[in-house]
Amino acid sequence: MFDVTVIGCGVTGAGIAYELSRCEISVAVVEKQNDIACGTTKANSAIVHAGYDPLPGTKMARLNVEGSKRMEALCRRLSVAYQRVGSMVLAFDGADLKTLRELLRRGNANGVEGLCILTKEQALNMEPGLNPEIAGALYAPTGAIVNPWGLAIAMAQTAVKNGAALYLNSPVRSISDRGGFYRIEAGENALETRYVVNAAGTFADKINDMAAQPFFRILPVRGEYYLLDKCQGGIVRHTIFQPPSKSGKGVLISPTVHGNLIVGPTADPADGPEDTGVTAQGLQKVVKAALRSDTHVNFRESIRNFAGVRAATATDDFIIEASKDAPRFVNAAAIKSPGLSAAPAIGPEVRRILESIGLVCRAKGNFTEYRQPPLFKNMTKAEQAAALSRDPRYGRVICRCETITEGDILQTLRGPVPPVSIDGVKRRCNAGMGRCQGGFCGPRVHEILSRETGIPMENVEQDLTGSRLLTGETKTGGGAE
Ligand SMILES: Cc1cc2nc3c(=O)[nH]c(=O)nc-3n(C[C@H](O)[C@H](O)[C@H](O)COP(=O)(O)OP(=O)(O)OC[C@H]3O[C@@H](n4cnc5c(N)ncnc54)[C@H](O)[C@@H]3O)c2cc1C
Repeated sequence: MFDVTVIGCGVTGAGIAYELSRCEISVAVVEKQNDIACGTTKANSAIVHAGYDPLPGTKMARLNVEGSKRMEALCRRLSVAYQRVGSMVLAFDGADLKTLRELLRRGNANGVEGLCILTKEQALNMEPGLNPEIAGALYAPTGAIVNPWGLAIAMAQTAVKNGAALYLNSPVRSISDRGGFYRIEAGENALETRYVVNAAGTFADKINDMAAQPFFRILPVRGEYYLLDKCQGGIVRHTIFQPPSKSGKGVLISPTVHGNLIVGPTADPADGPEDTGVTAQGLQKVVKAALRSDTHVNFRESIRNFAGVRAATATDDFIIEASKDAPRFVNAAAIKSPGLSAAPAIGPEVRRILESIGLVCRAKGNFTEYRQPPLFKNMTKAEQAAALSRDPRYGRVICRCETITEGDILQTLRGPVPPVSIDGVKRRCNAGMGRCQGGFCGPRVHEILSRETGIPMENVEQDLTGSRLLTGETKTGGGAE
């Protein structure tokens, strides 16, 4: 019997598990995919929003600002890439300037520090490549960029290191109240738990409906992106937004923590909670909108297109509360943008809610955070020498674009939650993140993963559960048969 079971291991579920693993309670996390961060958490803009956008008084506003304040220290402790680059919202005319003044008012009410409106000249001084036709910009020095899947993986690995049980490949099928505890059927597992937390992203409505009365629907909204090569990464130094509209924060241009340039997203109704396809129309919208902010973006340097799905609902706020009709059941649902920014604050919020409905959370004396070991390329000369004498495979470069060695990959396989897919390796140590997007190193990573984990070559997955690359037995050597 677990004290708490968290359903879903994106950045929300991982953040909740991280917080709960500080306490003397037993925690389970149930995830339908083969890895952490396979949902919206791996496909978003990766911005730590300052917090001027959400309406004052909403949970979204409070948790965004609190999450943004906690983010830097959390990332430092867990060795997650984070950079406080600051952000600008551009105005193109008088109506946009009015929008900026409203965002400034909201930001001040929400407690965002350092916000100010820049004149056109000031904005162009800070970002010389911007469209010279701009009328001004809202500047937020606390805006930042982060590695979103890295954050979720680091928090989940810390939770596991501190005793949480992570059940991967375990889609929740049913939740039944047995009077005082719940029974959860998840894949091949049946778990008993006193409390349940629903952090199932774009499936959160379905999980709520298994235990409680339906009261919200996820209306998925897709956002399509371009990811550009590192040669474009320095085009802007800040995250550049356009004025937000009813459908979202608009198309942004931003450096990423990996040194690339991200451009997007669109905001179009999705065909379902996992509708992550990209379309020619969507990508054209991205190009057109982005070139209005900065004409220098060279889309011929695109290395990847992708899409993420927002867990939107009819009301513009997160649903983070104890269920009104299912006892000991807490929803952490409708976690659309700025859910990544708010993640460091959502865990503590859910813990407070659980405590308010009877969970006793005594602090664990021996809680320790899991720090991802440094990559070979980021080690000092002395550390590199020590790593090479420990394991000469640190000298064999597997991913040439990102200079990731076999030793780095083997290190990820020794973590608390080792990867089982090629993209799982990529999310932990960047092999395959570069210009060729795994074209050269993918087969090498495939072999290493199979050799080290014992997963037969034909069963190794590219990414999500079921995404096998090979369809039959491979025969090597010996010539043609
Ligand atoms: C286009 C786009 C851009 C965004 N940009 C930003 C941004 O720049 N900054 C920001 O702060 N936020 C941003 N967001 C929002 C942010 O990405 C999300 O709020 C956040 O990733 C949500 O995390 P999550 O853990 O709630 O959901 P997810 O990451 O989707 O995780 C939910 C998990 O639940 C699992 N699950 C689902 N059903 C079941 C089941 N039956 N059984 C077991 N497990 C299940 C899924 O497999 C998944 O792993 C953006 C979102 C989108 C779509």
